[in-house]
This record gives sequence, C-alpha cells and structure tokens, in this order.
Amino acid sequence: MNMQKGNISVQTENIFPIIKKFLYADQEIFLRELIANAIDATSKLKLLSNSGELKKDTGDLTLEIILDEEAKTLTIRDKGIGMNEEEVQKYLNQIAFSSASEWLEKYKDDASIIGHFGLGFYSAFMVADKVEVNTKSWKPKSQPVQWVCTGSPEYEINEIKKKSRGTDIVLHIGEEGKEFLSKHRLEELLMKYCRFLPIPIKFGTRTETEEVGEGDKKETIKKEVDNIVNNPTPAWKKNPTELSEEDYNAFYKELYPYSSDPLFHIHLNIDFPFNLTGILYFPQLNNSFEVQKNKIQLYSNQVWVTDDVKEIVPEWLTLLHGIIDSPDIPLNVSRSSLQSDSNVRKITGYITKKVADKLHDLFKKDRKEYESKWRSLGVFVKYGFMSDEKFAEKSNKFLLLENVENEFFLLDDYVEKVKGTQKNKFDKVVILYTNNKDAQDLYITTAKEEGYDVVLLDNVIDNHFIQQLEYKRQDITFKRIDADTVDNLIETDEKKESVLSEKESETVKDLFGTLTKEKGNVTIEIKPLSPTAPPVQITKPEFMRRMKEMQSMNGMNLGDMPDSYNLIVNGNHPLVAKKLLSAKGEKQSELAEYFYNLALLNQGMLQGKGLTEFINKSLDLIK
Ligand code: ADP
Repeated sequence: MNMQKGNISVQTENIFPIIKKFLYADQEIFLRELIANAIDATSKLKLLSNSGELKKDTGDLTLEIILDEEAKTLTIRDKGIGMNEEEVQKYLNQIAFSSASEWLEKYKDDASIIGHFGLGFYSAFMVADKVEVNTKSWKPKSQPVQWVCTGSPEYEINEIKKKSRGTDIVLHIGEEGKEFLSKHRLEELLMKYCRFLPIPIKFGTRTETEEVGEGDKKETIKKEVDNIVNNPTPAWKKNPTELSEEDYNAFYKELYPYSSDPLFHIHLNIDFPFNLTGILYFPQLNNSFEVQKNKIQLYSNQVWVTDDVKEIVPEWLTLLHGIIDSPDIPLNVSRSSLQSDSNVRKITGYITKKVADKLHDLFKKDRKEYESKWRSLGVFVKYGFMSDEKFAEKSNKFLLLENVENEFFLLDDYVEKVKGTQKNKFDKVVILYTNNKDAQDLYITTAKEEGYDVVLLDNVIDNHFIQQLEYKRQDITFKRIDADTVDNLIETDEKKESVLSEKESETVKDLFGTLTKEKGNVTIEIKPLSPTAPPVQITKPEFMRRMKEMQSMNGMNLGDMPDSYNLIVNGNHPLVAKKLLSAKGEKQSELAEYFYNLALLNQGMLQGKGLTEFINKSLDLIK
C-alpha cells in the first residue's frame, strides 16, 4: 500500500470546529473516551484468547499513558486487538466519524446530559491539533498502519513499522489542551475517571523503598516500579463470599480516606431485570447529616460516570455512601428525564428494598448492636420513613423509639407499653417526648413521678418525623414534655380537687397577672396539681410551638409570631397554698416574682439583667 489521502466524509459539514468548541468545561472527557476505547480493545483481545481464536499468549496487557512534555504529546497505548488498514478506514473514518457527528448534532445544546458519554474517538480533537493512530491488528501477518489527521476532514494513512500488537493514540496537544501536558493534572484525571477500570493502567514510574537483609546488614534500597494508577479489581466486582468485614472497611477508606468506619454495608448484585453491582455503606451520621450527603459515585462497567446521583437515587438514599455500577442507566439522556426512566425507577426500588431488608436483618441478628447504632441509623430510617411509602411500611420492623432511660422499643411495642396509662379521651395514645433531656429535666422528672414514660426525640429531623407519624398513624399523638402539665397532656377526664378557695385563686391570679403584664402572650392558669409538682411552671403549647418551628425552618416570616406560653400555678403546692397566700404586701409580690423567675429559669428563659438580679436576690436570701 502506498500513502493514501482522503476526505473523512463528504456529506457531513466539517465537525472539527464544533468539537473544538464543544462544552469547553468538559474538555477533559477526551481522556476517559480514549482510555475506554483502549480498554475495549484489550477486553476484546482477552475474549479472543479465551475462545482460542488467538493462538498466542496475550502477554502483559497493561495500558500505558505516556506524557512527553517536550514533544508536547500524550500517548494512550494499548496491547489490544489493534486495527488493520481496512478497519481503520471503516472504524475511524466512517463509524467513529459519523457517530461523533450524530452525537454532536443531538447534544450540542444540552449541557445537562449525564456524564457526556459517547463522543468517542473524535473527542481527541478537543485537545489535539494533530492525532496519530499507530496500530497493528492481532490478526496474523497484519501490516501495521498509521492514520494521521490534523483536525480537518482530510486524513492520511501510511504503512509503518510497528512490532507490537495494539494501538498507540498519539495526541499532539494544541494550545487549547495544554493543561493536559501537566503530570499533576493527568494524575488527577486518571484518579477521577480510571480509578477502577478493569485493566491495569501505567502512568510513569515511582520510587519504592524496600528493606533487605537482616540485623546489621539491613539496608533500604530504592527501586523504580511501574506506577499503576488504578485498582482493576475493586471490591464491588468481587463475590461477597470472598470479602471480609475488614475488606469492606478497607474499600470504604479507599473511597473516603478520612472518614470514620461505616456502620454497615450492602453489597448490590443483580443481573435481571437490569444489571447492577455496587456497595453502599451506612456512614456514621449523628446530627451532621447534611455534610454526609451526595457521596455516592455512579460507574458504568467500572468507568466513572458521575458523583452526582441525585436523579438516580432518591434524596433520602443519598445519605448512603459508596458505588453503584450499572450499564443499564442511560447516560446520554438529560438529567431531568432520568427520573422517569423505567430502569432507573426499578433500580431505586431495588436499592430501597435491599436497604430495608438489611436493616431488618441487622435488627433481628443483634438487637443490642442495632440499638447502639440507632443514633446514626435512626436519622436515616426516619428520613426514609418520611420519603418513601414502601420503605415506611417495612420500617415498622426496625424503626425504634428510645426513651429517656435509653431503652429501645419498636413503635408498636411502645404503643402497647404505654397505652394503659397514656391514652387520652379521644382514644389516642399520647407519646410524651423531650427534645432536650438536660434542659427539660424537671418536666421529665415530674412526669415520671406520675408514672409516665418519656421518649427522646432530639434529632433535627424529629420535628418532621413526628408530624408525619401522626399523619400516618391516627391512633397516636406526640406531646413535648413542656407543652403543658402532664395531666393536661394526657387529656384524661380525671378531675383533681383544689385546696384553694375561689377567692384565694383570684389573689394568686392577680399576683402573677401583674408580673407578666408586659411579657407578651401569657396565659395564667391555676391548677390543682400534685403537691410534689413544681409550684409554678411555664409551658409552651404544642400546636403553637410547632407552628413557630415550622415557620422558622421554612424561612417564612409571618410578622414574627409572638412567643406564647402558659404560666401554670400549682394551687396544691404548699409553698403556694400556705407561704404565698399568707405573705403580705410587698413580701407577697416579691415571693410571687421569685416563683416566676424559677419557672423562667427552668425553661431557659431567664437571661440578661433578669438573671443577674435573680442570682443576687438568691444570694441575699442565703444571707
Ligand atoms: P465507540 O467506541 O463508541 O464504538 P469510537 O468513536 O470511540 O466509538 O470508536 C470507533 C471505533 O474505532 C471503535 O468501535 C473501535 O472499533 C475503533 N477503535 C477506537 N479506538 C480503538 C483502539 N484503541 N483499538 C482498537 N480499535 C479502536
């Protein structure tokens, strides 16, 4: 064959300028596209070898990325099937060219397509002024050829001398691509796109130190070794039976180097009705879950696609970490249409089910262990409960409530436990909760003295969770422990006798009325509580408080709702019934103020000047 010249395609307009300009920000994908081709060619060779068509041994199949800063070239070298002249004509001039043109035609205006997959070989021209392909087919007695193109529809094919089988793609990097002549930049890209590709990829060498000899003769020697940038057999591609807990944790650390150990993992592996592999991890969450979100990486046959799986994985599952690898997620569609893709929806359903099954397993297998992790797990389970109907149904087998004694109950068991004592007149079970065990200690203690149980719901998502749970289960209602006096929270019909006469009640009401006149929306009530309950307490009605919380959470501003609270005076407390009522004049108002301040203090509402005065007053009393 003599040198040949030709035009790549006569009918298509010149696509090179379009390629050059194409989505400037995504220029770097050329490397993934070319390496993916090299991997393909190598995998095909392996198949030929397995089927016996290739008679010789395949030899080493490592891919090589070679940077020559002086010559301004970047070479992607594979030892795959290669191409003969006829194949170069067919694959590069016809197929690759027309599929690149088609691709550009379709997506040139759509920046949102996921991963920008499939521009293929011609993406090389985003960064190179000239591309050389030096290739030799695996077929016996093949003549190696070179294809050269300088970014115009004209190309040349020459016969060359090339001993080894496979393909070198030599990119003569132009002005637009000069950042890719940096070793550092390339390392970064290889890490991003090639980290788990299935064939070893070498990029230069690195120095390794090794200790040799024993005792006095011990010495450290330095060796130059191939710098392999990828892990060709990542954990998710292995059989779960081959992997220990340590292996899973080690892989987690490989993905997220500075994280603490995950709580659990789920190994995904399914090939029908769609193909999906991967490992998802439960991270340690506590209250910091916002920063833990969106760390799942999407791969397609071990090729990195994206770190942003929002459209593929429902919001609540993005709390998980790890890898999903599926060639069945369509990559050349816009992100917004992904959500309605039937495979994507099935995948979501599959992951949700796996997650629910795993949680149930863990709960059954070692309940104590599960409980000890509830702080982290609970956030996730509740989030799922609120987001996914199917998951919510399953969650009754592993959704726990923790009470202030750190005992854990399945929701149904808890309802069973308290329904004897905590049922209100509307036949609802009242679940008393605290969102701050320390700050609400007096309320909790009082409730417990009366024989009630209090659960701990102190996570940032618990407000929403409670709301949803009440909506889904009409038989229960949640009341925060400081929302009212306990008897009122339980709303029984039971009436207690007051030791105060009507006239005495009026006096008490007046005293506190004067004190709170300028303090906003305060309702004063005198109640015949148990003599051991606090003399005066401040409660914040559940409904109003929730409204206010919602308002501030949603960033709404309804003209700043005033704090409204109740001041409850325990008419049966001896300090009220005897001491306060028998005091006279200024002494009496001072005493009332002191009780009032104690109640404010208990709600964390006594601050600033008021607090200082109260402390001084208390010191005076000791004197
Ligand atoms: P795709 O890879 O999607 O088929 P490309 O434009 O990337 O499209 O490549 C077109 C064709 O060129 C490939 O299908 C393959 O036959 C051939 N080809 C590209 N790179 C190589 C390579 N490194 N070794 C062998 N064949 C290659």
